[in-house]
Amino acid sequence: MQVLITGGAGFIGSHLAEAYLARGDEVWILDDLSTGGIRNVEHLRDRPKFHYLVETVMNVPVLAESIDRVDAVIHLAAAVGVRLIVESPVNTIETNIKGTENVLMLASKKKKKVFIASTSEVYGKSARLPFKEDDDLVLGPTTKGRWSYACSKALDEFLAVAYWKERKLPVVIARLFNTVGPRQTGRYGMVIPTFVRQALSGSPITVFGDGTQSRSFTYVSDVVSAILGLVDSDQAVGQVFNIGNGKEITILDLANLVKGVTGSSSQIVTIPYDQAYEEGFEDMPRRVPDISKIRKAIGYEPTLGIRAILEKVVEYERK
Ligand code: UDP
Repeated sequence: MQVLITGGAGFIGSHLAEAYLARGDEVWILDDLSTGGIRNVEHLRDRPKFHYLVETVMNVPVLAESIDRVDAVIHLAAAVGVRLIVESPVNTIETNIKGTENVLMLASKKKKKVFIASTSEVYGKSARLPFKEDDDLVLGPTTKGRWSYACSKALDEFLAVAYWKERKLPVVIARLFNTVGPRQTGRYGMVIPTFVRQALSGSPITVFGDGTQSRSFTYVSDVVSAILGLVDSDQAVGQVFNIGNGKEITILDLANLVKGVTGSSSQIVTIPYDQAYEEGFEDMPRRVPDISKIRKAIGYEPTLGIRAILEKVVEYERK
């Protein structure tokens, strides 16, 4: 198979590229290096079946040529990371909506299969847990920048479903929950690389809010096998799936676990959300996926728990 991975030099994209190459597939990546980096795919550059292009999904002629070449498009290119979103809402909205619009419009001309990466953020503040794909979405006001990310990704989902219903474009949509692993950067707000670096350098571990908010973390290779499975499945077409891990942990417990796994003597400090992000910032108190749909569709089961995930990230960061 020939696949195009937009955002392929990013954290998840680079692991996905490795997985496709390992299967013997030919991989093309398109990445503008806004949050990804060539260093993430440096080790793949000599492979004969690996090709990369430093370009944005906003460049329609280049994107069209790239899509024409392949059998399937895995669309990961997006503005991501809570810090980046709060700081650059215009870029977030434009990249996430226009980029996906371009991918769907061009793929539709040649009826190429498309995988759309969405996010657990679309569930917003919903208090009905665990989150199921057909649940109502509960977003905050438009004056709070954070929700623009959820809303832009929800619009991507609407558009993808519309292309399937109206034009029979084979699309599959997945909502990725907090994904972690080597090469993830903490620069745009992701908690685990941030905590691990703080612990390893002996700096204070910065828990935002009171630390009672929880998340459920999935190891990147589990997410990659879920994506491979969904793209390969004919039954998954036209549908939305959660990709995550059903086990949750509070951020304060996570900070303590990071201290334990690293053997760090770092202090754990709490920082009010207003200081960490912006005035009036809204966090979601809990975020847990129901993964029964993807389990039934492709037999997906996450393999690593939070301690094993942390051990892998710590090993990577130590190197
Ligand atoms: N967080 C934290 N300290 C940090 C970075 C993040 O306490 O240095 C918290 C953040 O407020 C959120 C959780 O960790 O409650 C997960 O944050 P992340 O940005 O990784 O992803 P999110 O789930 O918010 O998209």
